[in-house]
Amino acid sequence: MEKGKVWLVGTGPGDIGLLTKRAVEVIEKADFIAYDALIGDEILGILPDHAKLASVGKRSGEHSADQKDINRMLLEEALTGKRVVRLKGGDPFVFGRGGEELELLVKNQIPFEIVPGVTSAAAVPAYAGIPVTHRDFTSSFHVITGHPRKDGQDRIDYKALVQLDATLIFLMGISKLGIIVENLTRAGMAPEVPAAVLERGTHACQRRIVSTVGNLKADVRKADIQTPAIIVVGRVCALADRFSWYEKRILAGQQIVVTRARSKACSLTERLREEGAQVLEFPAIETRFIKPEPVVLNVLFSVPKGKEIWITFVSPMGVEGFFELLAAKKADMRKLLSTGAKLRFAAVGQATADELQRYGWIADLIPEKYNGRELGRLLCRTAEADARICLIRAKEGSEDLIEELERFGRKFENIVVYETVYKKNNPLVDRIREKIEREEIRWVTFTSASTVKGFVLMAGNMDYARVQALCIGEQTAREAKKYGMQVTISERSSISSMIDKIIESREII
Ligand code: SAH
Repeated sequence: MEKGKVWLVGTGPGDIGLLTKRAVEVIEKADFIAYDALIGDEILGILPDHAKLASVGKRSGEHSADQKDINRMLLEEALTGKRVVRLKGGDPFVFGRGGEELELLVKNQIPFEIVPGVTSAAAVPAYAGIPVTHRDFTSSFHVITGHPRKDGQDRIDYKALVQLDATLIFLMGISKLGIIVENLTRAGMAPEVPAAVLERGTHACQRRIVSTVGNLKADVRKADIQTPAIIVVGRVCALADRFSWYEKRILAGQQIVVTRARSKACSLTERLREEGAQVLEFPAIETRFIKPEPVVLNVLFSVPKGKEIWITFVSPMGVEGFFELLAAKKADMRKLLSTGAKLRFAAVGQATADELQRYGWIADLIPEKYNGRELGRLLCRTAEADARICLIRAKEGSEDLIEELERFGRKFENIVVYETVYKKNNPLVDRIREKIEREEIRWVTFTSASTVKGFVLMAGNMDYARVQALCIGEQTAREAKKYGMQVTISERSSISSMIDKIIESREII
């Protein structure tokens, strides 16, 4: 069997925006991914479904699963020919034990690549408004491990550090904070020198304690600091208030779960991130095209000359599915036009109409309120009595529309082009459950009843009363209420309206 390859990938300190392009490329093509506790939630949310995942780290700063076991796991997977990706927080070679993981690979002649990452040593201070160097204050910065060696020996030369009069950054040092400041003071550092502890930097919940060498320990104890955190010592810390920016963005500090199918989640996710929210993509459903029976297609092509055919779309996905279907039959719109029938398009809402326009066709009819009932009503009013109404739809759903057509005694044809499949096994599930229990998630957004169902199927047993559900449409809201979620409905059935709601209610946390 051909040997695989290993990529040692730094993911940055948490914020997905700091993941490099190269890291994304490598992740997308991985067969096997091993990750540890420092990997940001947003990043866990994009790991591809096709990859086998292994979580190899305990949470909260403890040492990860036995290093030897991890080394062996990477080797074994590579030996079976897989593309193996080892994800690490920050940069893999900055206190990341990257070197150790390479030893066994080199010995076994497994090819590998390193993808550097943005190290927390630089990014976490930057997100806290602390420039690690500044011409007026310091001309160098130094990154130091606060973790003593196994033999307990501390090899750090504190005297030398103090003489540098530089910015000192300690990683893995929180549990040894007392010893570190004591050593610095003993080596001659003035207690008034500014110092800071930066907790969970680049994450929505990041905090900073800015103090002095003399008071840092007491201030940190009061604040009950969690890991991971770094210690920064030096005059640049005094700039933090002036240069702070992270918390000033509109949705700073908000963690929002997006449950749409991944392919459709982008615009919502992107816009929320743009405003400073931390967005956890947790796709609860996936949509798959299905090929309708060939006879179904005759429905489209057999409308007599001069009669109306209303091709009715109830979702953007339906539009895509419809054109896929034509393409699969090697037919294009000319075939539909050649029947001589009067071709009409109806769309349930603007997003669906926009999708239609991408294919070069303009919707003749969009209801003012984007829902199936309104669409049905409008269609019945507009379509000629003997028009053929074709519903391009998912296998499930569209009940409201159908009920409405039936109420008016209208005949219609169903052309089912896609189905919804519920997702399983998302690596984020435990973290999301934990965050909901702790009420850290501001919103879980649902764009359809099926996303609610899919979410509940994945999340399992949980206190759903702690879920703040932001829903598009009544049907979605009804489904969310079934589980006891706290429900808010966006004014209009659109992503923009959802975003407006999130922004509008940001103060009331
Ligand atoms: N390779 C990593 C560092 C690994 S050592 C890097 O380049 O960033 C782990 C230490 O990194 C933690 O104990 C903590 O001190 C620091 N750290 C990592 N991510 C952090 C974050 N988001 N916020 C604060 N400190 C972080």
